[in-house]
Amino acid sequence: MFAKETFVIIGASQAGGWIAKTLRNEGFQGNITLVGEEPYLPYERPPLSKGALLGEVNLESTYFWPEGSYLEEKIDVILKTRVTAIDRAEKSVELDNGTTLNWDKLAITTGTRVRPLDAAGVELEGVHYLRTLDDTLKIREELSPGGTALIVGGGWIGLECAATLTKLGYETIVVEYADRLCSRAVTPEISNWMLHYHQSNGVRILLNTGVKSINGGDHVESATLSDGTEVNCSKVVIGIGVIPNTELAEQAGLAVENGILVDELCQTNDPNIFAAGDVSNHPNNIIGKRLRLESWENAMNQGIATGKSMLGKGTAYNEIPWFWSDQFEANIQMIGLPEEWNETATRGDKGKNEFVEFYLKNKLIVGAISVNSTRDLRMAKRLMQAQKEVAKHDLENPEIKIQALLKS
Ligand code: ADP
Repeated sequence: MFAKETFVIIGASQAGGWIAKTLRNEGFQGNITLVGEEPYLPYERPPLSKGALLGEVNLESTYFWPEGSYLEEKIDVILKTRVTAIDRAEKSVELDNGTTLNWDKLAITTGTRVRPLDAAGVELEGVHYLRTLDDTLKIREELSPGGTALIVGGGWIGLECAATLTKLGYETIVVEYADRLCSRAVTPEISNWMLHYHQSNGVRILLNTGVKSINGGDHVESATLSDGTEVNCSKVVIGIGVIPNTELAEQAGLAVENGILVDELCQTNDPNIFAAGDVSNHPNNIIGKRLRLESWENAMNQGIATGKSMLGKGTAYNEIPWFWSDQFEANIQMIGLPEEWNETATRGDKGKNEFVEFYLKNKLIVGAISVNSTRDLRMAKRLMQAQKEVAKHDLENPEIKIQALLKS
């Protein structure tokens, strides 16, 4: 009888969890070990800045799968443990508890960590980052509504956090370095809509502004902004982006460039090592370039694709990127990564916060962003996938269903 194969997954994350589950779903009978440094089973991040921060969502409900399901499927989960090194020659990983695990195939799903704010006073009490379940728990433990919360960074996390803290009774101020909100992800038109939407919900937004220092005794009392003004605040949440956790891969000699470089089968330059989720930099033929995506959907689907590839059943991973965010009463969704277009079409009513903005290049949809219009966005994704030529006036005509354009 042959010895059973062992697959090790570094990172008990969404992508890591999906790899383990997919291996079993596809009938893999060997050993699976999932190693994670956090004390939690793989959990969903979207609620951390929304429902979980509001206190509406029970933390266990953020788990993708209950503990019992890992036991049933014989997936060994080692939590509160870091992998400290990958040895490719020995095909092993070293753990910070002094043990070594051997593997036949390895997957790296180490995700990202927060980019630290370079300002004096970040260590004061009341200053938080928001990335992990523990971060959310800590912010909730220390809630003192009625005060002012300063949010550093006007990207997805910062804006979601601003909406949630406003709902919780804080005065909120968002300080954003760039000249528009969420500039990494959305088009200037949508940044503008976001600005007005947040302002109309009572959020103060300061663009072209950074933070020089955070001030206080033990606890934060104020912050000095880049223009020298001082604002009083009892809480600071920093959301200025993330850095991929590539060090282990780099030290093992794997190719790294803004993430771990993988091919369309999620394979690194070592055929026995794979990477998926936020840490992977992968080719996307639809977009026509390499991407490193920080999205819930990518963590799941690329995890599933990786599990299949590890079993030699992989197919090219190529999907239209899709993101969503909830801010106040707006559900914002986005497909594609619109960078270049020669026409835009707006369907619906921006003033009523219910619309889709389409970005067209030579009549093909290269991206779309919707607010409270999920159905139309879903159809737009299908149009984009089908590479269907569409006319601006049809997209803008409320009498014409987007579905109908698929069939025309
Ligand atoms: P996330 O998805 O984690 O929110 P983004 O990259 O979408 O990350 O958003 C981070 C935002 O933080 C960007 O809009 C960026 O311009 C802003 N930012 C980065 N550094 C600073 C800083 N020092 N002060 C204020 N804003 C910052």
